[in-house]
Amino acid sequence: MSKNREYDYLIIGAGLFGAVFAHEATKKNKRCLVIDKRNHLGGNTYCENIEGINVHKYGAHIFHTNDKFIWDYVNSFVPFNRYTNSPLANYKGELYNLPFNMNTFHQLWNVKTPDEAKAIIDKQTKEHKTKRPTNLEEQALSLVGKDIYEKLIKGYTEKQWGRKATQLPAFIIKRLPLRFTFDNNYFNDTYQGIPIGGYNMLTNGLLNGIECRTGIDFFEDRENLSDLADNIVFTGKIDEFYDYSLGRLEYRSLEFKHKILRKSNFQGNAVVNYTAANIPYTRILEHKHFEFGNQENTIITEEYPLEASIKNEPYYPINDTKNTNLYKAYKEMSEQDQIIFGGRLAEYKYYDMHQIIGAALARAKKLLS
Ligand code: FAD
Ligand code: UDP
Repeated sequence: MSKNREYDYLIIGAGLFGAVFAHEATKKNKRCLVIDKRNHLGGNTYCENIEGINVHKYGAHIFHTNDKFIWDYVNSFVPFNRYTNSPLANYKGELYNLPFNMNTFHQLWNVKTPDEAKAIIDKQTKEHKTKRPTNLEEQALSLVGKDIYEKLIKGYTEKQWGRKATQLPAFIIKRLPLRFTFDNNYFNDTYQGIPIGGYNMLTNGLLNGIECRTGIDFFEDRENLSDLADNIVFTGKIDEFYDYSLGRLEYRSLEFKHKILRKSNFQGNAVVNYTAANIPYTRILEHKHFEFGNQENTIITEEYPLEASIKNEPYYPINDTKNTNLYKAYKEMSEQDQIIFGGRLAEYKYYDMHQIIGAALARAKKLLS
């Protein structure tokens, strides 16, 4: 017999998946409790305001989407600014524009027209175009050729993933645009920006009026917490949910070193990638530029990639064959349960924010209608 429980939904994880699901369920008059083991809401989008600057505590988050519905949805909680991501790459002291576009080709080869750039890329990719790429290195060589691969991809990718580019799936770099126009916009999407006043405005809007408890790890009080609600939405690690019974899924982590600098402008851009193998970090962020800040001081973050462990948080699922198969086995196991698994960790998927929002809205619609 079902107990008379206090909540309809216990939502584990106050990241975007949990927050969107909780918001939609509350709209349908469901009683929700959201918990998170961190001491704040917002998951990886969380920002800490330091010296008037919203510091992206878990790495640069730039919102972009082609979906007008999702853009209007997020803008209904907080207006977004016109920030356009246009990172630079620093390779051994030389600066290149990203993504790969006419500015990059001019800086690399001094070419001035698309035909000249195409001629070089065609020459460098020709010999690699014969077979279907089976890994990231082959994919890169067949898309952009040797010069770009060696200066702008190989070092960055191998640092970021801690694996040889030949051992990584090709899809990871398919998301990077290649353009024959002088256009440094990193994304092809129609809509892009940063919430005015920071991402916490979005989280607070979504979770407004919903009971949230932070600093609570589900696994430390699993039975009692589960007993509080009729349904459970879980957005943590799926392998942890099953006590790692089939083995551990691998994740890549990052160590963020935040620094306050007593100067107003350090690098003139929000994101600079360091693509050479001998520099231990992959990027330096300068947070004020996400919101066009003119504060007296500036805050930067160096991102050092490393393997996830008990100490280092899981950020990036490693969707190689071994891990993908292990995830499939956990997913099969989860189909026997009534738990709703969602988000980057529970679905073991390299999702962006707009995709997470789309997935949470779809799931809420299905379950709540
Ligand atoms: P999360 O935000 O990770 O939230 C999950 C929450 O669950 C966490 O707060 C965690 O503490 C909590 N939790 C886990 N286990 C437990 C437990 N046992 N008990 C209680 N709580 C638990 N996307 C973009 O669109 N643009 C970008 O520029 C971008 N940049 C990124 C940069 C980095 C470095 C990273 C890591 C991701 C980036 N993303 C970006 C992706 C974006 O962060 C995700 O798509 C989104 O935040 C995922 O939301 P989520 O709710 O699935 O997960
Ligand atoms: N990448 C690269 N050089 C760069 C930037 C990205 O080789 O200067 C590759 C790298 O493999 C990375 C992938 O492209 O993991 C996707 O890059 P993106 O900027 O989308 O990564 P994220 O913001 O998700 O960390």
